[in-house]
Formats: sequence, structure tokens, C-alpha cells
Amino acid sequence: MAETRAFQAEIRQLLDILVHSLYTEREIFLRELISNASDALNRAQFEQLTQHDMLDADAEAEIRLAMDEEAGTLTLSDNGIGMTRADMEQNLGVIAHSGAKAFVAAMQEGNGTAQDVIGQFGVGFYSVFMVAQRVRVVSRSHLPDEPAWAWESGGDETWTIGEAERERRGTDVIITLREDAQEFLKPFRLKDVIRRHSDYIAFPIYVGDEEEASNRQTALWRQSPGEISAEQYSEFYRTLSLDFGEPRGHLHLRADVPLQFYALLYIPQSDGPNLLGMQRDPGLKLYARKVLIEEATSDLLPEWLQFVVGVVDSEDLPLSVSRESVQATRVMARLKQTLTRRLLGELKRMAEKERERYLEVWQAFGRYLKQGLAVSEEERETLEPLLFFNSTRDDEADSWHSLQDYAGRLAEGQTDIYYILGEDIHSARRSPHLDAFRRRSIEVLYFTDPVDAFMLMGLESYREHRLRNVDEADIDLEGIGEAGEEAEGEQGEALGENDFDALQERFRVVLGERVQEVRVSHSLVDSPARLVSAEGAQERYLYRVSRLLEREVELPVRTLELNPRHRLLHNLGGMLAARSQDPVIDATIEQLYETALLQDGLHPDPAAMADRLLLLMEAATRGEGTAEAAVTASEGQTAEEEDKDEFDETEETG
Ligand code: ADP
Repeated sequence: MAETRAFQAEIRQLLDILVHSLYTEREIFLRELISNASDALNRAQFEQLTQHDMLDADAEAEIRLAMDEEAGTLTLSDNGIGMTRADMEQNLGVIAHSGAKAFVAAMQEGNGTAQDVIGQFGVGFYSVFMVAQRVRVVSRSHLPDEPAWAWESGGDETWTIGEAERERRGTDVIITLREDAQEFLKPFRLKDVIRRHSDYIAFPIYVGDEEEASNRQTALWRQSPGEISAEQYSEFYRTLSLDFGEPRGHLHLRADVPLQFYALLYIPQSDGPNLLGMQRDPGLKLYARKVLIEEATSDLLPEWLQFVVGVVDSEDLPLSVSRESVQATRVMARLKQTLTRRLLGELKRMAEKERERYLEVWQAFGRYLKQGLAVSEEERETLEPLLFFNSTRDDEADSWHSLQDYAGRLAEGQTDIYYILGEDIHSARRSPHLDAFRRRSIEVLYFTDPVDAFMLMGLESYREHRLRNVDEADIDLEGIGEAGEEAEGEQGEALGENDFDALQERFRVVLGERVQEVRVSHSLVDSPARLVSAEGAQERYLYRVSRLLEREVELPVRTLELNPRHRLLHNLGGMLAARSQDPVIDATIEQLYETALLQDGLHPDPAAMADRLLLLMEAATRGEGTAEAAVTASEGQTAEEEDKDEFDETEETG
């Protein structure tokens, strides 16, 4: 007796869409069923190698299509792993598989058309209801004591499950075709679909009584690159990556010595979820002698190359012993080494020969490579030419410069490479640290990616050039670049020594332990203050890295440098002498310190400055009711209007 059950709401929705809309590409149901059959055969092969007690242990793997014109049925059979009753209930009745789930979600949100989803990576088994009135699945598990079961449904609300007859291991999907889908009884039509969508399935697919398989059975990665079209590469990428788009690049490898393997690796569009919100598991698909061993293994590439997707098919991996065996581990380690080397080689080639394309890869995955630099000493030299940064040379966020570019155009007398750490180029380019460098036309690289601080742990120098942070206190630019004596002269009068000392003391009292020291700056030009670090002070990297990891860590304690020539310091000195208790003094000191933090992208809580800024603005606009105040007020009006215009302008350009 068969038992009747209801489909889950999600599956009912999916079926409704599949049954009631007409897709031009509905032939892909065959690809989906063949792919399931192929998975089942793969799994049977794997079982065969690892356990001995199974039904039909030495059956020749195959997929067969049988057409019955009279009954109007198409039957797809495999002698794969089969399903138990519980498997059938779970897999065909209860669970909506990832593809199906995402499909329904996407349809509800209206992103991507049904055509897109079904066509690109299918919705699995249920796609059969695009062509079927009824479907009966008869399956017998490879487990010797399991009987056969039949699952049946008309693609409406319910399905049934009951006992069935089947002698041998495997699955039959018996499809009663709809009136408008009778074309799928024609061998030429079936063979055409197989050749287009399932040619590289590794098992023979026979149509009717034919003795010759309809597919070439050569996995794409085992074919020679010359025979593969760009479209085939892209299509294979899409099935692997769950992506709709094109890959950013691919690398097709065949090697004989010392290891024999095939690999087809892709640089994907991105490492994020696809348009439907589906996220793939990192890792490569691993075959050993054509048998699928693992869907996504992360053992074949270092962590910092895990954005790559692809297939590796090894002839040297032992099948019959566990993957943890010594031999397997050794082969895996060597594969990893080879794949890593070849991938980095390909990236280097792109960086040299196809700069534009490479820069897109860099923007999508540069973070991974930087991580590699931090953790992988031995790859350091290979990774260096892959690094690109923004630079003060043009201050453009979309203009990229390599270390080699930089080293090739050092200023007169320059030996070190300078960089600035910051949140983003827009705020970093206004940094007080850059004053002196700009003055002397010395180029500085922007390290504004949160992982850059992490990267620096593995990048202390490039060739013979030290990398130095512009906030290092002891950088001496004397004799480097274009600075002339006249430049110094332009900077205006320095604060008198006594005034400066008093001011310095007040800064020390107000800032207390938040700063290591307060002292005079010799390099600031347009800015009143900056925070500097001792060379090699690792805490400042640690702080940024910790923030990246969302860990609590103390702000690094640094030295505050003051520019004695700056207007603001003159004013503040005057105020201190005249009314040392004025609250504006301490508020200004606090604000100078926090502004310096902000400019370095290190302020832990910028919004906290709001109250103080309000106080300072109040003080600055306090006119004490004089005639001067009235003038200021009306000027203020105009200024506000100008501001507004400016704002509108930015709106338009932005
Ligand atoms: P997916 O293949 O994405 O998991 P499907 O809806 O195509 O989703 O299939 C659901 C599940 O049903 C499969 O994961 C598999 O466990 C099982 N299945 C489908 N077809 C077969 C088959 N021919 N042999 C054995 N199991 C199958």
C-alpha cells in the first residue's frame, strides 16, 4: 500500500512555477536528471572502493534512456547508489534543496528571472515537472538488505511512497510526458540535448538500444585546451561557482611529471554570494582517476588562495585507502605546492601583460594576496609583484601603482619607500603626515585597506628599500626630494620659546597618559599637530589588525607633535597667557588630539566629538553683542548660502 503525503509549502510554490510557466529552455530537465544519475554513480564507485558489502558490486556504471511512444513515457535509469525509503522521503519529498530554496526566494524578491535560474544552474530534480504529467521514481539502494521503493507525484500538492519491484541497484525515473513535451520521445532530440548539456558526464549515456554512448565522456578538464571554446569554459565555470557571470580568468593545467594531474581553475567574479544570495563553499572539487572524492576540499590551496574555484583530477591519489594515509597526504601536499605556484605565476603574467584585467582581479581579491604576504614567508617574493596601491603621485582612488613602479621613480636622495595607513584615500590624503612629503614631492603609497596593517607584518622591505610609515617620528627628509631653503622660510613665525613651553606643558597635563610625549615638530607645514610612532612600534599595526578582527585593544600611545608656526598654536598660546582658565583651551587641546586620531583612521568613536565641537563652535561664534557681532552674523548668512551652493554642486557631480 502506498502512503500519500503533502509537499512542503516551499516545494509546492516551486512546482507551481515550474508546471505553469513555459520555459524555452525546459530541455535542461534532462541535464538535471543526468547530473543526479551521475552523482549517484560517483557515489556508488566511491562506496565500492571503501566498502565491500554492496548490491551488484561489479555492475558497469551507465545511464540509460528508454522511450515508450505508446505510453508516452521517457525513463531515465542509472545503476548508481540508489535510495532507501528514508532517502526518497527526505530527498524528493521533504527537503527543498539549496537551488530550489534560493529559486523560490529569488522569484519572490523578483531578482533574476526563472529562466536565468533554471538555465544557469537548475533547480534539480523538480525541473522534471516542466515536461512531466506524472513522475514515478523506482529505486533500490546499494545496501544489500533494502527492498525497492517507488515515489510518485503529479507535481501538484502531494506525493506517494510505496513498495516496488527492482532487482538491481539504482534508480529509474519514469516520466509521463505532457502533451506539449512529446518531443522528448525522439532519440535525435534527446541526443542533441545530451551533447549540448551533458557531454562531459564521465559515464556513458545510452539512448534507446544504441550501443554507442551519446556523450563523449571526457571531462572538460581532461580535454585539450585547444578543443574547448570560450563558451564551454564559461559554462563550466557557472556550474562550478554558482555564479551567473563570466570568470575573471582561468588556468587549465595538465601535468605528467612529477605528478600526473589535470586541473581547471577559475578566478571567479567575487567571493560573495551570487545574485540569489547563494554562497559556495570554498575549496576545489577533487577527483581521483575520474572518481569524485570531494565536492570542496580546502587542502589543495593555501587559505589565501581559497577564492579560486575549480577542479583537480589526480592520477596519483590512492582511491582505496583513506585520504589521511601517508601517501595521500604527500600527494596532496605536492599538488598544493604545484597549484599554488602555477596560480601565482598566472597572476604575475596577468599583472605584467594584462594590467587592466589584473587590476580588477586585484580589487576583488587583493585582500587574499595581502594575507598571503603576512602569513607565508616563502611566497613573499612571488607575491610582491602582485601588489598595487593608490599613491600621492596622483591621489586617485582608481589609479594603481606597484612597488616596482614606485621603486623606479624614487626622489633624489630617497632610498626608503613611504606609506601612510588610513581608513580610505579621501581622508588619508589630508593627513598632516603628508605635509612634509608633499612639500618635497616625495611619493607616498596609501595603505587604506584594513588588511594592509596585517600585510605589513610580512612586508618590511621591498628589494633593498625599507618600507616606512610616514608617522614614524625619526624619519628625516633632509636632503631628499625637492625641498629648498625658501620653503622653510615661507612657513611663518614660530611661537616664542616660553610660550611654546607653557603650551606644551598644558598639552601634557590635559592629555596625560594618552600620549607618550608632546614635542615640537620639524616637519609639519599646513597642519597644527600630528601623532607619531616610534619606528617599528608594532602596536599600531596590532591595533588596526585587532579592529579588523573586532577585538578590543587599547589605543596605541604615541607622541604628539605640534607645529609652532601654525596660526592655531599662536592663538592658543595667546589665550593661555591671557586667560588660562578658559575652557576653550582644554577643549581645543582635546580636539587637536582627537582630530589627529581621526586623520590616522584610528579614532574609536568619532561621534563622541560632537559635544565638544558644539562647545567650540559656540565659543567661536560668540560675538558678545557688539557691532562686530552683527557684521559677523550677516556674513555668516552669506557663508551659509555659499555652503549650500557648494553642497548642491557636490550633489550633482556625485
Ligand atoms: P541536488 O542534486 O541539488 O541535491 P535534486 O533535487 O536534484 O537536488 O536531488 C535531490 C536528492 O535526491 C539528491 O541530492 C540525491 O540525494 C537524491 N537523488 C536524486 N536523483 C537520484 C538518483 N538518480 N539516484 C540516487 N539519488 C538521487
